[in-house]
Amino acid sequence: MDKTEETQTEAKEEPPSCRRKQLFPNATKREWNDWKWQIKNQIKTKKQIEKIIDLSEDEINAIDKSKFPFAISPYYATLISKTDPLCPIRITMVPTTAELTKNKGEFDDPLGEIGDSPTPNIVHRYPDRALFLTTQTCSAYCRFCTRARSVGQKTKNDWENAIQYIKNHTELRDIILSGGDPLTMSDEKIEWLLKQLQQIKHVEIVRIGTKTPAVLPMRITKDLVKMLKKYHPLWMSLHFTHPKELTPETTKACNMLADAGIPLGSQTVLLANVNDNAQTMKALMTGLLKIRVRPYYLYQCDQISGSEHLRTPVEKGVEIIKALRGHTSGYAIPHFVIDAPGGGGKIPIIPQYVVGKEGDDIILSNRDGNIFKYHDKKH
Ligand SMILES: *Cc1c(COP(=O)(O)O)cnc(C)c1O
Repeated sequence: MDKTEETQTEAKEEPPSCRRKQLFPNATKREWNDWKWQIKNQIKTKKQIEKIIDLSEDEINAIDKSKFPFAISPYYATLISKTDPLCPIRITMVPTTAELTKNKGEFDDPLGEIGDSPTPNIVHRYPDRALFLTTQTCSAYCRFCTRARSVGQKTKNDWENAIQYIKNHTELRDIILSGGDPLTMSDEKIEWLLKQLQQIKHVEIVRIGTKTPAVLPMRITKDLVKMLKKYHPLWMSLHFTHPKELTPETTKACNMLADAGIPLGSQTVLLANVNDNAQTMKALMTGLLKIRVRPYYLYQCDQISGSEHLRTPVEKGVEIIKALRGHTSGYAIPHFVIDAPGGGGKIPIIPQYVVGKEGDDIILSNRDGNIFKYHDKKH
């Protein structure tokens, strides 16, 4: 789509606040701004989503057949265009029949997390840090979820043993609370966990991985932020997909977290027809800097069962990083990584800037492909 076309569709589209009044006319302001109301009123059925967008035949079939949970928070649903089948939020949230087919190279557990789980709720792959999968619940379920095998299900949690594991492994200095989305839990539950972790001497930092600032910004309440502040050094990785998500509500949520002294990083999955062009990605990354979120990772989409239609060639990510590096703030450039299938971990994919050697000189290519020499020092 060229730029003029894009601007035109956006001009035609109703802003989210108007969509809200049309779609949820009975919700009071108080209810709308209450994250628990948002979760209780998730869009989960064909009947509900039909009111929000003009569904295609294919989407109708897929909603009936998909085994992976379908749910969107009312807030996030107002960001979806009613008519545009290529609306980026729609592509990431509404099932299509393409996701029912397991293609070549796809797995239900693409990162081999089950094999790296020494005890329930823990994934310990790297030497000094581990994931703590706190809950299987999300307020909105991404079609490209790497944990589609387990999210949305009622599974038994064993937090006590998970905490014991962390206590026993003194090499673990960095614990990442993930899920599901940890911020779908109550303040009390989150605080209980943070308190347990704070008491473990070798745990130096805790991070929370969450998509709530994008999909459920009202979750970031004064009370939550006041509580989180007590558990520094606390970091957060926020999941963002498209500049459409950078609404006034999301801006406010990120500002509250940043004001509480929580360093904010972003994680974005590169997705076909959603954010796979330099212009969209630059708008997202520079937009995140404005709300004090530092772009951290850009992920090549994992080889999840039924994800082929959402994946891009790896070259696309390299092309996007090339278009950013040197052309915009260095702070706006994430690490492009492939999380290697089978538990290899995150592997950076970096455009080639060192293009050769001439004696002691290193030959470098800059952002515009111009060649420079750097005289390297001998060992
Ligand atoms: C992504 C991930 C981490 C954190 O990796 P960083 O590069 O430190 O952000 C830790 N454990 C697992 C299993 C992961 O997938």
